[in-house]
Amino acid sequence: MSTAFLQQSVQFLKGVGPHRAHVLEEAGLSTVADLLHMVPRRYLDRTNVVPIRELRAGSDPVTVIGTVIAAGTIPGRRRFEVVLEDEPGRRMTAVWFQGVAWISKVIEKGHRLALHGKPARYGGTVSLSHPDFDRVDEEGPTMETGRIIGLYPGSAALQKAGLTSRTFRRIIYTLLKEHGEELRENLPGPLQAQLDLMEGRVARRAVHFPKDNDELQRARYRLKFEELFFFQLLLATTRTQRERFPGIRVPSGGPLETRFLSEVLPFTLTGAQQQALRDIAADLASGKQMNRLLQGDVGSGKTVVAATAALKVIDQGLQAVVMAPTEILCEQHARSLGRLLAPLGIEVALLTGSTPAAERRAVLAALADGSCRLLVGTHAVIQDGVDFHRLGLAVVDEQHRFGVLQRATLFEKGDRPHMLLMTATPIPRSLAMTLYGDLHVSLMRERPPGRQPISTKMVREKDRDRVYARMRDEIQAGRQCYVVYPLVEESEKLDLKDAVSGHETVSAAFPEVQVELVHGRMKPAEKEAAMSRFVSGESAILVSTTVIEVGVDVPAATLMLIEHAERFGLSQLHQLRGRIGRGQHASTCILMAEYRQSEESRRRLKAMEDTDDGFVISEIDMELRGAGDFFGTQQSGLPAFRIADLLQDQAILERAREAAFALMAEDPGLERAEHAAMRAWFEAFVLRPGMRLSRIG
Ligand code: ADP
Ligand code: MG
Repeated sequence: MSTAFLQQSVQFLKGVGPHRAHVLEEAGLSTVADLLHMVPRRYLDRTNVVPIRELRAGSDPVTVIGTVIAAGTIPGRRRFEVVLEDEPGRRMTAVWFQGVAWISKVIEKGHRLALHGKPARYGGTVSLSHPDFDRVDEEGPTMETGRIIGLYPGSAALQKAGLTSRTFRRIIYTLLKEHGEELRENLPGPLQAQLDLMEGRVARRAVHFPKDNDELQRARYRLKFEELFFFQLLLATTRTQRERFPGIRVPSGGPLETRFLSEVLPFTLTGAQQQALRDIAADLASGKQMNRLLQGDVGSGKTVVAATAALKVIDQGLQAVVMAPTEILCEQHARSLGRLLAPLGIEVALLTGSTPAAERRAVLAALADGSCRLLVGTHAVIQDGVDFHRLGLAVVDEQHRFGVLQRATLFEKGDRPHMLLMTATPIPRSLAMTLYGDLHVSLMRERPPGRQPISTKMVREKDRDRVYARMRDEIQAGRQCYVVYPLVEESEKLDLKDAVSGHETVSAAFPEVQVELVHGRMKPAEKEAAMSRFVSGESAILVSTTVIEVGVDVPAATLMLIEHAERFGLSQLHQLRGRIGRGQHASTCILMAEYRQSEESRRRLKAMEDTDDGFVISEIDMELRGAGDFFGTQQSGLPAFRIADLLQDQAILERAREAAFALMAEDPGLERAEHAAMRAWFEAFVLRPGMRLSRIG
């Protein structure tokens, strides 16, 4: 099949036609390639069919094949029941409670069905509840190829258009029979041989119609590899393309940097910080534009790394900007960077949405004439009218909070500055290789020395008095406490009420101290005032929604009480907890949880009690939520893989990445003859619209 044929509408396939084509398109299957690459969601293994007489309630899921001898909707009870028989007198039932309307239309007495599900006892007999099902009579040629049957994703709309698993099998069978031989291999021969990969053409047939389980597994491996490989090739292309931009050459070891490291810095850098700075120094000096992600758990000390990087460019007469997602965080950065760099005579300017007009004008003027060397701000810094004299470095803190577009705008400011992206959200390696695969990454797993451990404990409402007593002890010892309420956007009002009434409760329980309240709906000035009373130690307790999540640094805060802890995601809990344990005293994190919890939230809270290693937490979080939900699917930027699974296929991913980057290094324009088929595939199916390979080489 040529790529042109594969890109044709499904409408031209036998068995499809305009109406079905429309329904398929709605389901995201518009081209021949979409259909061919829609791999079965599950398989019915007919090589492992269990006779009805051997069914046992409570066993593992089984496949049963038999004839429908009765089928019907139980009147008034909204369920559809089927009685199936495989040998005379051996019967079982299957029952569906959902989708009754369409199931009752597709299953009739006399059909031969294959069912797959977990046997349970139901009304005196063994029964399958909501089994996967499939008609296996009248299969014709599609069944001859194998005894493992593919089951395709179904929906009411597809079913209504007659697009059942059986129809899909027929259409794909015909497609492969008529055109399968024309499929060209899209991976280079040597790569295929080296990794012992099944041929593309064979794999595409076998994934739909496997001869046996062994062949199926090899086919799936090959297709997963192929999918991951081409995505990595895209990342390699992006990186290669970007590295063609010349970057301002910035040597290290200038006077400000040297004085900062030897005289001003109040502590010694950790090994991880030193390594990150070596990486950055090499990038800045390379003559290419830097794109580095600094990934370090909360408290790992990213700020000084950013400050040192900024000094390197300031030493060269260039400017630096630090962009952070919230005003609170910006104000804090401005304060702490200001304090850190004051001995060097460097002033830090602040620009946010609430900067007064006169001040804003002054900042803009200082940026334009170059007298302002370091700017901190929210996305206000990328607005029109903010022009730099000569921007050398842009640091994006908590970069995952910004969209790709905002980062791109920052990049366009001035003369393509070096970019340092920072994130305190440790993510599993496989996700990092996919999301940030085009960046260079410096990892900081080590924390500054002398950090006190944080002990984490889950408690219930009945323990509240003890929790308050514990808070009182901390406060009497001169320390401070956070009380955090969840804030989910959809129920913002409700949660706000929680925080506001929580503030009243806590104030009543601690009449002897000042209790602050901070939430996202307050006026910035009020918020700032409340925050700074807490930071200065004037107030002992801060009640807040999750606005304190990122970056807030109050070393005397040693206790955090998280209310409704079961409502938070695991990574978010970990981020919050990172606000404590930042001083020289031991800290405690208390998770107040409901008595009734889902299994998943129980595991989340247990993980919090067991570890405070952000990378371990992130692996568990991804396992609990699945890769797609890890960041929230919308803004995650994760590609939707058809067959590969980032959680399960990490080993394949590593191999695919290695192969793709090696290949790109060897043949950056994919111009060699033996890469022609791969390149055609890449351009047709992987490259983003508007991207041109020819621009790379
Ligand atoms: P994060 O990586 O979460 O942004 P910060 O940069 O805010 O962490 O650093 C957390 C705290 O650790 C700050 O108070 C900072 O001054 C301190 N810190 C950073 N590096 C070191 C170090 N090498 N030794 C001791 N303390 C450090
Ligand atoms: Mg930080």
